[in-house]
Amino acid sequence: MVCGRCQWRVVGSVVMETRTEDVGVAARPASLSPSRASDFMQCPLLYRFRVIDKLPEKPSPAATRGTLVHAVLERLFDAPSAERTAPRAKELIPGQWDRLREAKPELAALFAPDGADGTDAPDEDGAAARLAQWLADAEKLVERWFTLEDPTRLEPAERELFVEAELASGLKLRGIIDRVDVAPTGEVRIVDYKTGKAPRPEYAEGALFQMKFYALVVWRLKGLIPRRLQLVYLGSGDIITYDPVAADLERVERKLLALWDAIVLATETGNWRPRPTKLCGWCDHQAVCPEFGGTPPPYPLPVRPPESPGDEQGRMGPS
Ligand code: SF4
Repeated sequence: MVCGRCQWRVVGSVVMETRTEDVGVAARPASLSPSRASDFMQCPLLYRFRVIDKLPEKPSPAATRGTLVHAVLERLFDAPSAERTAPRAKELIPGQWDRLREAKPELAALFAPDGADGTDAPDEDGAAARLAQWLADAEKLVERWFTLEDPTRLEPAERELFVEAELASGLKLRGIIDRVDVAPTGEVRIVDYKTGKAPRPEYAEGALFQMKFYALVVWRLKGLIPRRLQLVYLGSGDIITYDPVAADLERVERKLLALWDAIVLATETGNWRPRPTKLCGWCDHQAVCPEFGGTPPPYPLPVRPPESPGDEQGRMGPS
Protein backbone atom coordinates (compact mmCIF):
# COMPACT_ATOMS: atom_id res chain seq x y z
CA MET A 1 0.00 0.00 0.00
CA VAL A 2 1.27 3.49 -0.72
CA CYS A 3 0.44 6.26 1.70
CA GLY A 4 -1.50 8.99 -0.10
CA ARG A 5 -0.01 11.79 1.95
CA CYS A 6 3.67 11.08 1.61
CA GLN A 7 3.96 8.33 -1.02
CA TRP A 8 5.85 6.07 1.35
CA ARG A 9 5.42 2.40 0.94
CA VAL A 10 3.35 1.53 3.96
CA VAL A 11 3.11 -2.13 4.73
CA GLY A 12 0.48 -1.86 7.38
CA SER A 13 -0.82 0.19 10.23
CA VAL A 14 -0.13 -1.06 13.70
CA VAL A 15 -0.64 0.19 17.20
CA MET A 16 1.47 -2.22 19.16
CA GLU A 17 3.98 -4.83 18.23
CA THR A 18 2.27 -8.20 18.31
CA ARG A 19 5.25 -10.49 18.52
CA THR A 20 3.26 -13.08 20.42
CA GLU A 21 0.52 -13.34 17.79
CA ASP A 22 1.75 -16.70 16.56
CA VAL A 23 2.84 -18.05 19.90
CA GLY A 24 3.84 -21.68 19.61
CA VAL A 25 4.05 -21.75 15.79
CA ALA A 26 7.69 -22.34 14.93
CA ALA A 27 9.02 -20.55 11.89
CA ARG A 28 12.29 -19.62 10.20
CA PRO A 29 13.30 -16.01 10.59
CA ALA A 30 12.15 -14.10 7.51
CA SER A 31 13.04 -10.52 8.30
CA LEU A 32 14.85 -8.36 10.79
CA SER A 33 13.51 -5.60 13.01
CA PRO A 34 15.54 -3.43 15.38
CA SER A 35 14.10 -5.26 18.40
CA ARG A 36 14.92 -8.70 17.14
CA ALA A 37 18.38 -7.60 15.94
CA SER A 38 19.01 -6.33 19.48
CA ASP A 39 17.74 -9.62 20.89
CA PHE A 40 20.26 -11.59 18.85
CA MET A 41 23.09 -9.27 19.82
CA GLN A 42 22.09 -9.54 23.47
CA CYS A 43 21.64 -13.32 23.51
CA PRO A 44 21.21 -15.67 20.52
CA LEU A 45 19.18 -18.11 22.61
CA LEU A 46 16.77 -15.36 23.57
CA TYR A 47 16.35 -14.60 19.87
CA ARG A 48 15.59 -18.28 19.22
CA PHE A 49 13.00 -18.42 22.00
CA ARG A 50 11.28 -15.31 20.70
CA VAL A 51 11.50 -15.70 16.92
CA ILE A 52 11.65 -19.46 16.28
CA ASP A 53 9.98 -21.12 19.26
CA LYS A 54 7.73 -18.09 19.82
CA LEU A 55 7.53 -18.88 23.51
CA PRO A 56 4.92 -16.79 25.30
CA GLU A 57 6.04 -13.97 27.57
CA LYS A 58 4.19 -12.24 30.35
CA PRO A 59 3.24 -8.64 29.64
CA SER A 60 5.13 -6.27 31.91
CA PRO A 61 3.67 -3.11 33.47
CA ALA A 62 6.56 -0.99 32.16
CA ALA A 63 6.34 -2.22 28.57
CA THR A 64 2.56 -1.95 28.57
CA ARG A 65 2.75 1.58 29.94
CA GLY A 66 5.10 2.38 27.07
CA THR A 67 2.57 1.05 24.59
CA LEU A 68 -0.18 3.08 26.23
CA VAL A 69 1.83 6.31 26.16
CA HIS A 70 2.77 5.74 22.53
CA ALA A 71 -0.90 5.26 21.67
CA VAL A 72 -1.86 8.49 23.45
CA LEU A 73 0.84 10.52 21.72
CA GLU A 74 -0.21 9.08 18.39
CA ARG A 75 -3.92 9.77 18.85
CA LEU A 76 -3.38 13.30 20.15
CA PHE A 77 -2.47 14.38 16.62
CA ASP A 78 -6.03 13.52 15.53
CA ALA A 79 -7.09 16.74 17.28
CA PRO A 80 -6.74 20.18 15.68
CA SER A 81 -3.34 21.65 16.53
CA ALA A 82 -4.63 24.19 19.07
CA GLU A 83 -6.29 21.40 21.06
CA ARG A 84 -3.18 19.29 21.46
CA THR A 85 -2.71 20.17 25.10
CA ALA A 86 -1.50 18.18 28.09
CA PRO A 87 -5.00 17.97 29.65
CA ARG A 88 -6.40 16.72 26.36
CA ALA A 89 -3.64 14.13 26.10
CA LYS A 90 -4.26 12.91 29.64
CA GLU A 91 -7.97 12.58 28.88
CA LEU A 92 -7.05 10.08 26.18
CA ILE A 93 -5.36 7.70 28.62
CA PRO A 94 -8.41 5.79 29.96
CA GLY A 95 -9.87 5.24 26.50
CA GLN A 96 -6.57 4.07 25.04
CA TRP A 97 -6.07 1.74 28.00
CA ASP A 98 -9.51 0.24 27.35
CA ARG A 99 -8.64 -0.18 23.70
CA LEU A 100 -5.34 -1.92 24.47
CA ARG A 101 -7.08 -4.32 26.85
CA GLU A 102 -9.66 -5.13 24.21
CA ALA A 103 -6.91 -5.85 21.68
CA LYS A 104 -4.90 -7.88 24.19
CA PRO A 105 -7.16 -9.35 26.89
CA GLU A 106 -4.14 -10.86 28.66
CA LEU A 107 -3.15 -7.35 29.75
CA ALA A 108 -5.97 -7.41 32.29
CA ALA A 109 -3.86 -9.89 34.30
CA LEU A 110 -1.38 -7.11 35.04
CA PHE A 111 -3.75 -5.67 37.62
CA ALA A 112 -5.69 -8.75 38.61
CA PRO A 113 -6.67 -8.72 42.30
CA ASP A 114 -4.94 -11.99 43.16
CA GLY A 115 -1.40 -13.24 43.05
CA ALA A 116 0.39 -9.89 42.94
CA ASP A 117 1.55 -10.10 46.53
CA GLY A 118 2.55 -13.76 46.35
CA THR A 119 -0.64 -15.07 47.95
CA ASP A 120 -3.80 -16.43 46.41
CA ALA A 121 -6.01 -14.13 48.42
CA PRO A 122 -7.83 -11.63 46.19
CA ASP A 123 -6.72 -8.11 46.97
CA GLU A 124 -9.16 -5.81 45.16
CA ASP A 125 -7.92 -2.67 46.88
CA GLY A 126 -4.29 -3.44 46.22
CA ALA A 127 -4.98 -4.16 42.55
CA ALA A 128 -6.96 -0.93 42.18
CA ALA A 129 -4.17 1.03 43.86
CA ARG A 130 -1.54 -0.50 41.58
CA LEU A 131 -3.60 0.33 38.51
CA ALA A 132 -4.16 3.91 39.74
CA GLN A 133 -0.43 4.38 40.35
CA TRP A 134 0.39 2.89 36.95
CA LEU A 135 -2.04 5.25 35.22
CA ALA A 136 -0.66 8.20 37.21
CA ASP A 137 2.85 7.28 36.06
CA ALA A 138 1.60 7.19 32.47
CA GLU A 139 0.14 10.68 32.98
CA LYS A 140 3.51 11.95 34.20
CA LEU A 141 5.23 10.61 31.11
CA VAL A 142 2.64 12.22 28.86
CA GLU A 143 2.95 15.54 30.72
CA ARG A 144 6.71 15.48 30.41
CA TRP A 145 6.44 15.22 26.65
CA PHE A 146 5.00 18.71 26.59
CA THR A 147 8.20 20.04 28.17
CA LEU A 148 10.21 18.52 25.33
CA GLU A 149 8.09 19.09 22.22
CA ASP A 150 5.17 21.32 21.28
CA PRO A 151 2.58 19.29 19.40
CA THR A 152 0.63 22.43 18.49
CA ARG A 153 3.55 23.28 16.19
CA LEU A 154 3.99 19.80 14.74
CA GLU A 155 2.13 18.24 11.82
CA PRO A 156 3.53 14.71 11.48
CA ALA A 157 3.60 13.21 8.01
CA GLU A 158 3.20 9.77 9.60
CA ARG A 159 2.58 8.19 12.98
CA GLU A 160 3.26 4.60 13.94
CA LEU A 161 4.42 3.92 10.42
CA PHE A 162 5.13 0.28 9.68
CA VAL A 163 7.81 0.17 6.98
CA GLU A 164 9.61 -2.61 5.22
CA ALA A 165 12.51 -2.52 2.79
CA GLU A 166 14.35 -5.29 1.01
CA LEU A 167 18.09 -4.97 0.67
CA ALA A 168 19.90 -6.07 -2.49
CA SER A 169 20.91 -9.26 -0.64
CA GLY A 170 17.23 -10.14 -0.17
CA LEU A 171 17.26 -9.37 3.55
CA LYS A 172 14.01 -7.71 4.59
CA LEU A 173 14.23 -4.98 7.21
CA ARG A 174 11.09 -3.87 8.91
CA GLY A 175 10.05 -1.71 11.77
CA ILE A 176 7.57 0.73 13.23
CA ILE A 177 8.54 4.39 13.21
CA ASP A 178 6.78 6.37 15.95
CA ARG A 179 6.65 9.64 14.03
CA VAL A 180 7.89 11.03 10.74
CA ASP A 181 8.09 14.80 10.31
CA VAL A 182 8.66 16.23 6.84
CA ALA A 183 9.76 19.88 6.58
CA PRO A 184 8.54 22.09 3.71
CA THR A 185 12.03 21.65 2.25
CA GLY A 186 11.40 17.91 2.09
CA GLU A 187 13.86 17.12 4.88
CA VAL A 188 12.77 14.16 6.98
CA ARG A 189 13.02 13.77 10.74
CA ILE A 190 12.43 10.39 12.34
CA VAL A 191 11.23 10.53 15.93
CA ASP A 192 11.05 7.75 18.48
CA TYR A 193 9.54 8.04 21.96
CA LYS A 194 11.12 6.21 24.85
CA THR A 195 9.35 5.95 28.17
CA GLY A 196 12.57 5.12 30.00
CA LYS A 197 15.50 7.34 30.87
CA ALA A 198 18.16 8.49 28.44
CA PRO A 199 21.32 6.37 28.50
CA ARG A 200 24.62 7.79 29.68
CA PRO A 201 26.58 9.37 26.80
CA GLU A 202 28.87 6.34 26.47
CA TYR A 203 25.80 4.19 25.70
CA ALA A 204 24.11 6.61 23.30
CA GLU A 205 25.51 4.76 20.29
CA GLY A 206 23.58 1.64 21.25
CA ALA A 207 20.40 3.68 21.63
CA LEU A 208 20.91 5.16 18.17
CA PHE A 209 21.24 1.75 16.54
CA GLN A 210 17.46 1.46 16.21
CA MET A 211 17.23 4.94 14.70
CA LYS A 212 19.99 4.25 12.19
CA PHE A 213 18.19 1.03 11.31
CA TYR A 214 15.06 3.05 10.51
CA ALA A 215 17.11 5.61 8.61
CA LEU A 216 18.54 2.83 6.48
CA VAL A 217 15.04 1.50 5.76
CA VAL A 218 13.87 5.00 4.77
CA TRP A 219 16.95 5.49 2.60
CA ARG A 220 16.30 2.23 0.77
CA LEU A 221 12.57 2.99 0.41
CA LYS A 222 12.71 6.64 -0.53
CA GLY A 223 16.25 7.15 -1.74
CA LEU A 224 16.78 9.92 0.79
CA ILE A 225 18.68 9.99 4.02
CA PRO A 226 16.68 11.42 6.92
CA ARG A 227 18.08 14.75 7.98
CA ARG A 228 17.67 14.02 11.67
CA LEU A 229 17.08 11.12 14.02
CA GLN A 230 15.49 12.11 17.33
CA LEU A 231 15.02 10.05 20.47
CA VAL A 232 12.63 11.59 22.99
CA TYR A 233 13.13 10.20 26.50
CA LEU A 234 9.99 10.80 28.51
CA GLY A 235 11.40 9.08 31.60
CA SER A 236 14.18 11.61 32.10
CA GLY A 237 13.08 14.53 29.94
CA ASP A 238 15.97 14.30 27.47
CA ILE A 239 16.27 14.42 23.72
CA ILE A 240 19.09 12.78 21.79
CA THR A 241 19.51 13.74 18.15
CA TYR A 242 21.79 12.50 15.42
CA ASP A 243 22.18 13.63 11.83
CA PRO A 244 23.19 10.57 9.82
CA VAL A 245 25.31 10.48 6.69
CA ALA A 246 25.57 7.79 4.02
CA ALA A 247 28.70 6.25 5.56
CA ASP A 248 26.80 5.70 8.86
CA LEU A 249 23.99 3.88 7.15
CA GLU A 250 26.29 1.83 4.96
CA ARG A 251 28.04 0.73 8.14
CA VAL A 252 24.71 -0.25 9.69
CA GLU A 253 23.81 -2.16 6.54
CA ARG A 254 27.06 -4.13 6.67
CA LYS A 255 26.48 -4.88 10.32
CA LEU A 256 22.93 -6.08 9.69
CA LEU A 257 24.06 -8.31 6.83
CA ALA A 258 26.70 -9.89 9.08
CA LEU A 259 24.10 -10.27 11.81
CA TRP A 260 21.69 -11.91 9.40
CA ASP A 261 24.39 -14.34 8.22
CA ALA A 262 24.92 -15.34 11.84
CA ILE A 263 21.16 -15.78 12.35
CA VAL A 264 20.83 -17.92 9.22
CA LEU A 265 23.77 -20.06 10.33
CA ALA A 266 22.31 -20.56 13.80
CA THR A 267 18.92 -21.37 12.25
CA GLU A 268 20.44 -24.05 10.03
CA THR A 269 22.69 -25.63 12.66
CA GLY A 270 20.37 -25.18 15.61
CA ASN A 271 23.32 -23.76 17.52
CA TRP A 272 21.80 -20.95 19.60
CA ARG A 273 24.07 -20.15 22.48
CA PRO A 274 22.96 -18.40 25.62
CA ARG A 275 24.86 -15.27 26.51
CA PRO A 276 24.20 -14.48 30.14
CA THR A 277 24.33 -10.84 31.18
CA LYS A 278 22.66 -8.79 33.86
CA LEU A 279 19.76 -8.45 31.41
CA CYS A 280 18.90 -12.09 32.19
CA GLY A 281 17.03 -10.67 35.18
CA TRP A 282 14.38 -9.41 32.76
CA CYS A 283 14.27 -12.60 30.66
CA ASP A 284 11.06 -14.62 30.79
CA HIS A 285 12.83 -17.80 29.71
CA GLN A 286 15.17 -18.65 32.57
CA ALA A 287 13.19 -21.87 33.21
CA VAL A 288 14.25 -23.24 29.80
CA CYS A 289 17.70 -21.64 29.69
CA PRO A 290 20.76 -23.86 30.32
CA GLU A 291 22.45 -20.97 32.12
CA PHE A 292 19.78 -21.30 34.79
CA GLY A 293 19.60 -25.09 34.86
CA GLY A 294 16.77 -25.33 32.32
CA THR A 295 16.46 -27.30 29.10
CA PRO A 296 15.27 -25.59 25.90
CA PRO A 297 12.32 -27.20 24.12
CA PRO A 298 13.22 -29.54 21.24
CA TYR A 299 14.46 -27.51 18.31
CA PRO A 300 11.48 -27.32 15.96
CA LEU A 301 13.36 -26.83 12.67
CA PRO A 302 15.45 -29.26 10.61
CA VAL A 303 19.19 -28.89 11.26
CA ARG A 304 22.33 -29.64 9.31
CA PRO A 305 25.58 -30.62 11.03
CA PRO A 306 28.19 -27.88 11.33
CA GLU A 307 30.67 -27.94 8.41
CA SER A 308 33.46 -25.94 9.99
CA PRO A 309 34.58 -24.64 13.38
CA GLY A 310 33.13 -21.27 12.31
CA ASP A 311 29.72 -22.92 12.01
CA GLU A 312 29.94 -23.72 15.71
CA GLN A 313 30.00 -20.07 16.46
CA GLY A 314 26.43 -19.34 15.47
CA ARG A 315 26.49 -15.92 17.02
CA MET A 316 27.75 -12.42 16.62
CA GLY A 317 29.00 -10.10 19.28
CA PRO A 318 27.15 -6.99 20.30
CA SER A 319 29.82 -4.55 19.14
S1 SF4 B 1 18.15 -16.12 30.70
FE1 SF4 B 1 19.82 -14.89 29.83
S2 SF4 B 1 21.16 -16.38 28.80
FE2 SF4 B 1 19.18 -17.36 29.16
S3 SF4 B 1 17.99 -17.04 27.28
FE3 SF4 B 1 17.45 -15.39 28.70
S4 SF4 B 1 18.86 -13.72 28.16
FE4 SF4 B 1 19.72 -15.59 27.27
